[in-house]
Amino acid sequence: MKVRCKNCLPKEGIEIPEFSSAEKEHYRKVKEGSTIRAVKKLIDEKKLSHRDAKYIVTHINIEYGQCNRCSFKQLDEEYGKCPKCSALNFNWKRS
Ligand SMILES: [Zn+2]
Ligand SMILES: [Zn+2]
Repeated sequence: MKVRCKNCLPKEGIEIPEFSSAEKEHYRKVKEGSTIRAVKKLIDEKKLSHRDAKYIVTHINIEYGQCNRCSFKQLDEEYGKCPKCSALNFNWKRS
């Protein structure tokens, strides 16, 4: 699946792997503790490049529905743009 964010490089976006519900939960929790650790885990566990891992981690929401860039709190899509600031959000559903 391809995702794109107007604020981030590369401009054309990146291809992301499938994440199971357990993985979504896992990476979100790791990010909550440490962004750097979440990037490292994605590189090791999902065999991603550093660039892609960092891109993914940057866009994961810690709080469901809340934009990772501004104060908007009503995101409902899993991979959507914030209607307020248009940042990409990995607004993963909570299992
Ligand atoms: Zn972005
Ligand atoms: Zn926003």
